[in-house]
Amino acid sequence: MFEQGVIRPPSEASSLLVRVTRNCPWNQCLFCPAYKGTKFSKRTVEEVKKDIDEMAEVYKGYKVKTAFLQDGDTLILKTEDVLEILRYLKEKFLSIERITSYARAPTLRRRTVEELKKLKEAGLTRIHVGLESGSAKVLKMVKKGITPEDIVTGGLHVKEAGMELSEYIMPGLGGKTLSEEHAKETARLLNIIEPDFIRVRTFAMHPMSPMQKMVKEGVFVPMTDEEIVAEIRLLVENLRAMHSYFSCGDFSLNLLMHVDGWLDEKKNYMLKELDKFLSLDKRQKQAYSLLRRSSYYHYPLSVVENPDVMAKIEPEIERIERAGDGAFDRYIWELMSYQLPQPQTDNWN
Ligand code: SF4
Repeated sequence: MFEQGVIRPPSEASSLLVRVTRNCPWNQCLFCPAYKGTKFSKRTVEEVKKDIDEMAEVYKGYKVKTAFLQDGDTLILKTEDVLEILRYLKEKFLSIERITSYARAPTLRRRTVEELKKLKEAGLTRIHVGLESGSAKVLKMVKKGITPEDIVTGGLHVKEAGMELSEYIMPGLGGKTLSEEHAKETARLLNIIEPDFIRVRTFAMHPMSPMQKMVKEGVFVPMTDEEIVAEIRLLVENLRAMHSYFSCGDFSLNLLMHVDGWLDEKKNYMLKELDKFLSLDKRQKQAYSLLRRSSYYHYPLSVVENPDVMAKIEPEIERIERAGDGAFDRYIWELMSYQLPQPQTDNWN
């Protein structure tokens, strides 16, 4: 049976998943549980071709339109090998219109524009990159293993090659101390790169993450939903009204999933929606957080203007708060952590 990795972007939910490497070659980011407890390895072209043959059998009769190359950093393979895999995939699945992949910024920095152009011509038309933060301090604190220079140079290589670029950013990752720098530096890099998609991935902390220790030691101060919305507001305010799609709508850990649209068309609308949340009173903000974090339902902000809803939810907030100072925020963080992938080890450190 063909292999599959554990994650893919939400936009690839109906894509054929073709595993060309296993796990993540870096695997040290303190916030990321996805591949903890696993080892990185490259698969041979022959192994991948065998998987593609099996998939062609399984999906015979289906019109497969999109494919995603797994796992964490496909372009770490030799460009010639990726080209051969792309050509074979297109030969076996004639209906494929789009092939995409994750790649790390330092890998993209090492790949020349000419190499990336060849990959694009062979069918790899979109690259997904974990930017997370434009702040060198935040990147270092969470052991991301990349620099702002990697992010900019790697991103510009992709754009110059004519590929689509999807950059993932993580509000809340700098904690309270680095929040302002995190927002402004992230906006600064995105303004230079002008990616096609800016995908928001609100930070949540896994109970086993080494960042829990940083919280106990006071090195990392986690942010409330309200503080993260204010950080996103600062980020959007600092982004140019460029032709990039700013997306909160494809990830349920983002509190305000309707803050979503092209920056050159909807920047003001998005700022207004962020302000609408920030202008609610404390109880309404808590009620909205609790409603959103307790289910996957996309409640409109107006739900907390309904007195009947508030009458039902306020006693629950009071009950949670009776557990002591900060109990409500801790409750919300715990609910958020349930949505994270699980590490493949009991000993993540
Ligand atoms: S965030 Fe990306 S680079 Fe970091 S460990 Fe996870 S998969 Fe690897």
